[in-house]
Amino acid sequence: MDMQTSLLDRLFESGLLIDMGVEGLYGRSGEFEDVIRRFEALIETFATGDAAEAISFPPGMNKAHFEGSGYLKSFPQLAGTVHSFCGNELDHMNLLQCLETGQDWTKGQEATDIVLTPAACYPLYPTVAKRGPLPVKGGLFALQSYCFRHEPSNDPARMQLFRMREFVRMGTPEQVVAFRGEWMERGKKLMAKVGLPVEIDVANDPFFGRAGRMMKNNQRDQNLKFELLIPITSVAKPTACMSFNYHQDHFGKTWELTTSDGEVAHTACVGFGLERIALALFHHHGLRVADWPTAVREALGYSA
Ligand code: 5GP
Ligand code: ZN
Repeated sequence: MDMQTSLLDRLFESGLLIDMGVEGLYGRSGEFEDVIRRFEALIETFATGDAAEAISFPPGMNKAHFEGSGYLKSFPQLAGTVHSFCGNELDHMNLLQCLETGQDWTKGQEATDIVLTPAACYPLYPTVAKRGPLPVKGGLFALQSYCFRHEPSNDPARMQLFRMREFVRMGTPEQVVAFRGEWMERGKKLMAKVGLPVEIDVANDPFFGRAGRMMKNNQRDQNLKFELLIPITSVAKPTACMSFNYHQDHFGKTWELTTSDGEVAHTACVGFGLERIALALFHHHGLRVADWPTAVREALGYSA
């Protein structure tokens, strides 16, 4: 049995994750959620004083905003759209007939105006652009959202629906690059507090197709994205648990987002993969939170 399946099986057996019959789609136990809540509280202790504006979006976003974002150029294979039945009574009868006879009942479904959010920050850029130019000090936002990516896998660290906590900075290139650098340091300190071994490396995103190869090279050569990696299901290939992205003026140009003096704004975001971090904690410290090292329990606010 490989390491991925064995961790997933153990997570199911312990009840921390709940099998829903689809790879990458799991229920979470109260204890699993509690770990995530506590880790988020720990993140907060590193962000106090930043005065980030908290915004919550649902896990679906405006299809037009999704189309404008450029996501389909890079990752068409990961996107998930929301479709719905929009037919008449005859169509309904056909649908039920298909269901009855085991045929595909989804063929008549039509796209709605909602697309599943692929990364927590995607709905934010058009929202902030609508407010007008950024203030002199730029913008700083705190987000958390369930995100969808169509990549079924038996690796518990690769889920189809998972939560991302993000901080997003908007402003001048200097402001956003400084923000990203600061969080790379904070990320390392944060993980050290909860006893997780990390390395930081340039990212390797799964850009689609031949054009994607160019985007991949560009991302790597220009150091646009770094990841904080922690071994979870493979020692040889540790898992990205945080990412640090510099989008340059991509979203600024796309949404006409400007700085206070009218320049195209630059943006950067820092994302925490919350389920992955919880899995890293369970993998490194054991499946029973009560048995975790005292220092880790303390950092997460568990009573002694
Ligand atoms: P990114 O946009 O950089 O791909 O994702 C941001 C963060 O979300 C990643 O650093 C990672 O921690 C988390 N993430 C990305 N893909 C997955 C996934 O398939 N499953 C889970 N649980 N987390 C993911
Ligand atoms: Zn982001």
